[in-house]
Amino acid sequence: MLKHGTLLLLMISAAWAQTSYDLLLKGGHVIDPRNNLSAVRDVAISQGKIAAVAENIPASQARKTIDVANLYVTPGLVDIHVHVFAGSMQREYLGENAVRPDGFTFRSGVTTVVDAGSSGWRNFGEFRDQMINRSKTRVFALLNIVGSGMGGRPDVEQNTKDMEPHPTAEVAIRNKDVVVGIKTAHFAGPEWTAVDRAVEAGGLAGIPVMVDFGNFRPERPYQELVLKHLRPGDISTHMYLGAVPMLDPNGKLMPYLLEARKRGVIFDVGHGGGSFLWRQAIPAIKQGFTPDSISTDLHVTSMNAGMKDMLNLISKFLNMGMSMDDVIRRSTWNPAREIHHEELGHLTPGAVADVAVLRLAKGQFGFIDSSGFRMRGDQMLVGELTLRAGEVVWDLNGLNSEDWDRAPRR
Ligand SMILES: [Zn+2]
Repeated sequence: MLKHGTLLLLMISAAWAQTSYDLLLKGGHVIDPRNNLSAVRDVAISQGKIAAVAENIPASQARKTIDVANLYVTPGLVDIHVHVFAGSMQREYLGENAVRPDGFTFRSGVTTVVDAGSSGWRNFGEFRDQMINRSKTRVFALLNIVGSGMGGRPDVEQNTKDMEPHPTAEVAIRNKDVVVGIKTAHFAGPEWTAVDRAVEAGGLAGIPVMVDFGNFRPERPYQELVLKHLRPGDISTHMYLGAVPMLDPNGKLMPYLLEARKRGVIFDVGHGGGSFLWRQAIPAIKQGFTPDSISTDLHVTSMNAGMKDMLNLISKFLNMGMSMDDVIRRSTWNPAREIHHEELGHLTPGAVADVAVLRLAKGQFGFIDSSGFRMRGDQMLVGELTLRAGEVVWDLNGLNSEDWDRAPRR
């Protein structure tokens, strides 16, 4: 009798499990580069996690089904260069030039951002309390090698006395759940101090370094940065900046770039307000020098100029001839790996259900670089629906809503 009862219970729970998905995204073209998947699939979500990715999961197995036919379904986008230490009373990228993450991420399919060095070890606690702990967007940070980060007077970032590897590494280790690397930026001096101290801190904490090379000076050539000073896994951001030696006088890609890439140095976009030129990017990409990761360098100035947002930026690469699969890899799985968070950036069952649903619009579009020049294009990605841990956090056209005239009458 007991045996029979147990069997019945098992059968009931199996039947219940069949209908237990919280949400089903049905009929979209799923791009999940980590799992080498680019095909029409259904994606089932339960308890904030990816539960299944398969052909034809019946709608009857889910409490709610959203039709995403003719749309792309990708992992939530991972943007590893933003400035979101807003709300401080200080100036520049730490303060008035920074944005609040939730206001600018979900609408562009972004679910994870990395603040690139707005804070240093002295003010990281404030950043964490104020922004990281209070955002729905997953916010990670690169700690600036400058203890005071990017705040206040312009000379703060030039103060080599405040570039201390030990306290920087200590704060990074103490906050290793959210600190994913070290940053140096905007350094103008002739010496290697900023880069080398950042790399030292990265070594102490066991995390990568991202470099914004600041002023390009003959005393410290960029070639030496990527061939000698950076370690494999370290990141050179602003890769299509005008100052980066990229093309020889005949327009040929300079071979040292490929050599540096072979060493394991990572090249990241970091478009920003002044760091992306068509005259660098178009010939470089034609010759195969594509980015390892596509990141925005989001802040108040860049988002109101040529950069705009993550999807506008990704669309630039599509219109330069890269494939959907290639651009999604560079905005999901690649950046997740670069910051050593391999649990993110893919749709493997069991992974957190951070998901972007995107529409590829066709038409006549224009894309602006940081010198204000335009490239015309005919495709533009639009953020239709974004899920953060299974919850709808952005829904442009009400895909998740009932039509108004089906509402119950009161
Ligand atoms: Zn930046």
